[in-house]
Amino acid sequence: MIVTRDLTKTYGRVTAVHGVALEVREGDRYGLLGPNGSGKTTLIRMLLGLVYATRGEIEVFGLPMPKRVKEVLPQVGALVEGPGAYPHLSGRTNLALLDAAGPGGARRDRRRRIGEALERVGLAGIDGRPVRAYSLGMRQRLGLAAALLRRPRLLVLDEPTNGLDPRGIREVRDLLTELNEGGTTVLLSSHLLAEIEAFCTRVGVMDRGRMVLQDDLATLRGPTGRVLLDTPDGDRACALLDGRVEHREGQRLTVRHDAPHDLNTTLVTAGIRVAGLVPEQRSLEQVVMAATTTSSDRVEGSTA
Ligand code: ATP
Repeated sequence: MIVTRDLTKTYGRVTAVHGVALEVREGDRYGLLGPNGSGKTTLIRMLLGLVYATRGEIEVFGLPMPKRVKEVLPQVGALVEGPGAYPHLSGRTNLALLDAAGPGGARRDRRRRIGEALERVGLAGIDGRPVRAYSLGMRQRLGLAAALLRRPRLLVLDEPTNGLDPRGIREVRDLLTELNEGGTTVLLSSHLLAEIEAFCTRVGVMDRGRMVLQDDLATLRGPTGRVLLDTPDGDRACALLDGRVEHREGQRLTVRHDAPHDLNTTLVTAGIRVAGLVPEQRSLEQVVMAATTTSSDRVEGSTA
């Protein structure tokens, strides 16, 4: 759906994006993660033809960008660097102006489409106010409504939850999930690990202009080869497992083992009570820290 090769952008002596090979597949919920200044916005802007690459290639829907921008953009909803809107007009009027330049159709259909978009982002009741009276969160929602108007095949969002409170973040996530289930591929950027981990199926990690990691979240978080065991019979379990217990804290044991089913059978057969047994998984935070050791203090962790 999006493929880039050796994509590079320099501003004078600053290399904002450096040799990036991005791969977003149809149906992905792709999260571009990285600290401020790592090049996410520049990368996204190049994908949309908003800035020209210094070097490299971009394909969106299999079409070269920005050469085929006129065919690509009508199928893309985008929210980049804050929603642009006329501050003295209402949200609805702003959307109507946008829509008039977009897909067109009968007036009644356009009005319905705008009403639906406002409804979906939770702005239906307050759209009479001028946009200048909107909070940042409301402006973000309006930007999302504008992105939705096109019923896009691909939605590209730069920090879409910026300025939203926890409830707003949740609502945006639910909305994006719903759209994705309806077939829209979603690419979003964030500097918040927890946000990416909660929503995305695929992750790309940017660090000082480079893509240092890109994979499916499930693969990145794959099993570690350890099992977390909860048992009231810790002493007996330790004796039975003979050297495989790496860590023990009360009832909780970390056991080196890559076949949880077999481990369970072994324990139960020996009459050891098992209160809980799960394969250990890496957190996205651990994966990202390992990939960005040089600037690990600049990515906000899931506990932030
Ligand atoms: P943020 O989350 O803060 O937006 P980002 O990961 O999106 O960060 P970019 O905005 O792409 O990062 O910036 C990457 C680097 O490129 C930064 O060093 C930035 O200062 C530089 N940069 C971006 N745009 C320009 C520009 N128009 N002129 C000069 N330098 C720029």
